Amino acid sequence: MLVMKFGGTSVQDASALRQVASIIHNHAAEPGGVVVVLSATSGTTNTLLSLAERAGRGEVISDELTMLEVRHSGILSELAPQASHTDLNELLHECRSYARALQILGECTPQSLDHMTAFGERLSTTILSSALRANTPSSVYFDVRTVMRTNDEFCAAQVDMHHTRSLCSQHLAPLCASGSIVITQGFLGSTSDGRTTTLGRGGSDYSAAILGAALSAREIQIWTDVSGVYSADPRYVPEAQPITELSFGEVRELALYGAKVLHPDTIAPAVEALIPVCVLNTFRPEDAGTRIVAHTPSTAAIHAVSIVRGCSLVQCSVATAAHIRSVPELGRSIILESETVESAMLVLKISGDDGILALEVAITDTEVVIQPTSLLAVSGPHVNMPIILAEIAASISAFTIRAITTGAATHTIFVAVDELQSNEALRAIHAIIPRHR
Ligand code: ADP
Ligand code: ASP
Ligand code: MG
Repeated sequence: MLVMKFGGTSVQDASALRQVASIIHNHAAEPGGVVVVLSATSGTTNTLLSLAERAGRGEVISDELTMLEVRHSGILSELAPQASHTDLNELLHECRSYARALQILGECTPQSLDHMTAFGERLSTTILSSALRANTPSSVYFDVRTVMRTNDEFCAAQVDMHHTRSLCSQHLAPLCASGSIVITQGFLGSTSDGRTTTLGRGGSDYSAAILGAALSAREIQIWTDVSGVYSADPRYVPEAQPITELSFGEVRELALYGAKVLHPDTIAPAVEALIPVCVLNTFRPEDAGTRIVAHTPSTAAIHAVSIVRGCSLVQCSVATAAHIRSVPELGRSIILESETVESAMLVLKISGDDGILALEVAITDTEVVIQPTSLLAVSGPHVNMPIILAEIAASISAFTIRAITTGAATHTIFVAVDELQSNEALRAIHAIIPRHR
């Protein structure tokens, strides 16, 4: 049994979806069936979020909805000219009616945001299953909200693993056992009283891992637009290379600290169930990708460098640090901290104007220094060896380094660098990696 998740760019248009269909086809004979988890087409979640907010302010968004409709109908027509548009049209109609309701109410709650963004994944899965219906009779559309049980923390709902597992055994396992190719949505869940929730941005990876764990998949495949987890984000470091094998712990830390390729929570259900996760390229399916397993016998000292941009580094007294931690939106924004008896250093990734305001309000102490910083996370099985630490420090000696510290997990070293020098520092540290493969 296999779970395959395809991200936004992998389903962005007809030609990408043709690749997806061919990859699914190659795995159609998988014993115990295949569950295919899709994201919304690229950009659609952002569009739906902004449309919901605008409709909630009473704005007319008819033209934007038409664009969404034209894009999705166009993808289906191009992908499978003979396919029926009945299901897709019904869904598009439902989306328009919902937006109209928000506009009339003049209100957009987190619950309505989730209901609205859910159309993204519902649309992409409807398109793929409408297209596959004609020539892949074993494919079935499945509404993941039947099994993905969550609490009602809209926009970032917590999955109730116990209920989800039992709902999966009841509704999804029999479909898989009959050898079906199940097409379902990532990112979405539902409360016990049937309200739609979402699992947080990028949450489709997490959905795949949860379904994989609940169904005891032999493997979870994350199909994306790059050939695995690279030694750094290939958009910023062109010389970055895919890493063949990574441990669960390392990849989680990488994902938490900026390697956007995987949702950080993805790993937890897979770790518990000891299910390998493979990151593969939809557009180059023959590439080996990255295999993420419980333990790797790797001798490489450093595997990768990831980056969290736009952080604030706060140097303050222990009392001020305690105060910052106690303000909920600030406490949640802390991504690194270290403290001595008298002073503290916090790195916060604050999103939105409200958070920045909260920081200004929280800091009354005039001694406090706040500096715009990027946090680099250097990870690898032996990254904490003194010789490697020395090499990292030497590679960035020309830059304004605000802190170097190890994480609680021994496989990551954190470097706080002046925001303006972050790309250069990223590449300088990355240049050490080939020496330690
Ligand atoms: P999807 O839509 O398939 O979920 P994402 O955009 O979420 O894809 O993740 C893939 C992107 O992650 C890549 O296009 C790449 O730019 C970015 N990325 C960041 N860090 C890394 C890394 N270390 N390795 C690979 N990709 C990375
Ligand atoms: N569509 C959702 C998002 O854009 C979930 C995902 O793609 O993983 O965040
Ligand atoms: Mg993603």
